[in-house]
Amino acid sequence: MNLLEMKNIGKAFDGLEVIKDISLSVEEGEVLGVIGPSGSGKSTLLRCATLLEKVDTGTILYKGETLVHTDEAGTAVYAPPADIKRIRSYFGLVFQNFNLFPHFSVLRNITEAPIHVAGQTKEQAVENARRLLRQMGLEDKEDAYPYQLSGGQQQRVSIARALALKPDILFFDEPTSALDPELTGEILKVIRELASERMTMVIITHEMGFARDVADHILFMDDGVIVEQGNAQELINNPQQERTKLFLNRFF
Ligand code: ADP
Ligand code: MG
Repeated sequence: MNLLEMKNIGKAFDGLEVIKDISLSVEEGEVLGVIGPSGSGKSTLLRCATLLEKVDTGTILYKGETLVHTDEAGTAVYAPPADIKRIRSYFGLVFQNFNLFPHFSVLRNITEAPIHVAGQTKEQAVENARRLLRQMGLEDKEDAYPYQLSGGQQQRVSIARALALKPDILFFDEPTSALDPELTGEILKVIRELASERMTMVIITHEMGFARDVADHILFMDDGVIVEQGNAQELINNPQQERTKLFLNRFF
């Protein structure tokens, strides 16, 4: 089943088109990798997909429900705010810089939204948070504050926090880019485990070997367009387009 479908998406900032007629879909249980040079529009595409940023034109459907369509004048029209808010709650987000609440303990970082946004009881939220902390190998850190943790530990807390809301799709925007190289492995391992549990994920990454191993499908973006896409192994091992080859040559 298609969870998310984006068709003919366009987005400009101050007249500069950064997303140009992009279409994509995310299937249930699929891991979609997004690669491409800095400034190619990857983060903007992810922000549009997760409804954090408004598109100018195009269509977005979630499980077949239309969230955005384009009117006759070519302008994107969004569903009512209540629908947008509900659909956004199906998305989990993990960013490069962890974005934890600095003045909350690890446990409270994870339980805050389940209690205050999703209406879980404190007992439910705490039990679930402890289960997630065990899954992330952080069972002894629930009382720690973010500044007391390594970057890799903070990122695992932010993954636990995203999972606590039981998202349908988990989106990662360069989850290892802010980490020292020796800490990237622990994050990639957690994401691999989620993939083996068939968590639906969209992952922007510069870790090409990881993308090849963990993603089912990869999009290569450059200058606001999808230059090439396909099966992860095939795209990384045997790119067809010159621009893709040039980009991948920097990594291998
Ligand atoms: P990537 O994630 O691939 O590095 P981005 O989506 O961050 O690319 O950026 C794509 C282009 O859009 C860049 O030229 C960037 O400067 C521009 N851009 C992104 N966000 C904004 C914004 N909020 N306002 C103006 N320009 C932006
Ligand atoms: Mg980016």
